[in-house]
Amino acid sequence: MTAAPFAPPSPGTETYAVLHRWRTELSLIVRDASGAAVTHLLRDEVMRMETALSRFRPDSELSIVNQQPGRWHTVSWYFVEVLEAAIDAAHSTEGIVDPCLAHLVDAAGYGTWRDAETPPLQPSEKQFTPLSQDSAGSWRDIEIRPAGSHALVRVPPGLALDLGAVAKGWLADRVADRAVAEFRRDAIANMGGDLRVIARDEPWTVTADPEQASSGQAELVLWDGALATSGVGRRAWTTADGDRAHHIIDPRTGRPADTPWWTCSVMASSAAAANAASTAGIVLGAQGPGWLESQGLDGWFVGSGEEQRVGRWPGP
Ligand code: AMP
Ligand code: MG
Repeated sequence: MTAAPFAPPSPGTETYAVLHRWRTELSLIVRDASGAAVTHLLRDEVMRMETALSRFRPDSELSIVNQQPGRWHTVSWYFVEVLEAAIDAAHSTEGIVDPCLAHLVDAAGYGTWRDAETPPLQPSEKQFTPLSQDSAGSWRDIEIRPAGSHALVRVPPGLALDLGAVAKGWLADRVADRAVAEFRRDAIANMGGDLRVIARDEPWTVTADPEQASSGQAELVLWDGALATSGVGRRAWTTADGDRAHHIIDPRTGRPADTPWWTCSVMASSAAAANAASTAGIVLGAQGPGWLESQGLDGWFVGSGEEQRVGRWPGP
């Protein structure tokens, strides 16, 4: 998430591979490994996810499932793994993070936002559509069945999947795990601010640096853990009515979440869990810090003129 870039660790013997895709920066850092092999691993995993899950590729598995909801589709077990992570996130957040919100994200006008440098586009020709009461919680009706080397998936009629709140975190976990397994060295995978650290030799120091934080950066020393940030400062635009809109939807209203927070950063044992919790923290607004504490997670909420730290998040 560009709203809270994480600075790379100080230069040493690390090999740093970076890709600019998905309107953000994806990187993998491995201690004492060959540059070409690190780049290959990162590219391989990113392209695999793109082929399975891109909303912008009409031939991705996700697009094919979304084109005909209500029907059974043959998908890869890879697709099912990410989908199951997204369903887990929906369970752990009681549906605040909901994998079936693609139409609402579109209706909010996310398509009009292009990149961090583009000024907000206006007006958006799309209008908000509140989630009908019968589709709230429909993620519970997603069906998955084994079919040999593949699987079958059915999404409730009228809905479409958007796995954006979990997928980058899930990928950070996967890339870091794979790097450690292949190179037997410490690694950090950072998928646009969803970051997974695995270290055995010495810990990594990572910096959370939300630009709106009046208290400056937070430095975290991690051995094995994850950090994710969600934010509404960057992926934001202005609607036809002159309202400010952004990319994080509150499924209870169907609209961009009305939240006091610009960013929510969360530490957890996996980047998938940290990412889901950070999105939920934004959506839950004033209740976000209390909810995060109830989950036993550590985090940092930054709003205009207001900050809250939860759990073991370091002080200013
Ligand atoms: P993140 O940056 O991790 O907060 O994920 C936000 C992305 O997930 C958005 O860009 C949407 O594609 C999607 N999304 C927005 N709101 C939600 C929500 N309440 N639950 C699940 N996914 C969402
Ligand atoms: Mg998130």
